[in-house]
Amino acid sequence: MAPVLFRAGCPDCRERFELAASALRLAIGASSRTTFYSFTCPECGVAVRKPAGSGSWNC
Ligand SMILES: [Zn+2]
Repeated sequence: MAPVLFRAGCPDCRERFELAASALRLAIGASSRTTFYSFTCPECGVAVRKPAGSGSWNC
């Protein structure tokens, strides 16, 4: 079975890459506005946080 990959981009170094689901952390808030995905950029190591409801996560 192929692992599920999420396309992500780093706002800091503008690198684009794919992350395995296990590389993502989901911080669940009370609403979609306070629910975030977070990951560490594999290129520059910056911690990136994106709102889960932003629509920028297209599988
Ligand atoms: Zn980066």
